[in-house]
Amino acid sequence: MKKLRLIFLLLLIMTILPLNIFALQNVSDAPVRNIGDVLGNVLHSNVRTYINGERIPSYNINHRSVVLISDLANYGFDVVFDEETRIATVTRNYAKEFTPIENIADNTERPGSVAFQYVYTDIIAIVNGVEVESFNIRGRLAIFFSSLGDFGTFRWNGETQQSMLTLNEARIVVTPTGIRYHFHFCHTIRENWRYVTREEARELGFTACLVCEP
Ligand SMILES: [Zn+2]
Repeated sequence: MKKLRLIFLLLLIMTILPLNIFALQNVSDAPVRNIGDVLGNVLHSNVRTYINGERIPSYNINHRSVVLISDLANYGFDVVFDEETRIATVTRNYAKEFTPIENIADNTERPGSVAFQYVYTDIIAIVNGVEVESFNIRGRLAIFFSSLGDFGTFRWNGETQQSMLTLNEARIVVTPTGIRYHFHFCHTIRENWRYVTREEARELGFTACLVCEP
């Protein structure tokens, strides 16, 4: 019986000890942030942001433009929020028509002055299959405008204070060893690719990538 108790005790120690070490490491590594914690200031700015020439409302954090994820649905993107996993996913939808937001107010305050604060959110933003920095601006999920870089080319006009994103045309590509066809900007592509039409890709037996959804 004594032996049995000893074994039990040893087993107990073995199960508890590594867990404890792991837990301690986790605590020290993780940033101490709670939902609603203030992260910094949103500044008044004269910078205006555009996607394919259409203006999109933006904010300014650390002298970088920030857009609301929900607004992107009006500019050729699909935005899906999963309540359970708390993940917001942004993907390009080439079939979607632009319905740009109208009557966007220009800044009337002194540029660089504090407008309000932005706060931490536990919602994860996934853009083109990759997690990007996100924050809560007045109860809405926001990302840096530059996080949309996979989808097109940025142009900055310092004189007019305009930041413009021109979206890439959709091109279908396949790789030598892959089984999926992709949009050319898909981040899962690891090899050289070549352009094909969607029809060619299907005839060759490729199926649509689940990440870029071509
Ligand atoms: Zn893909």
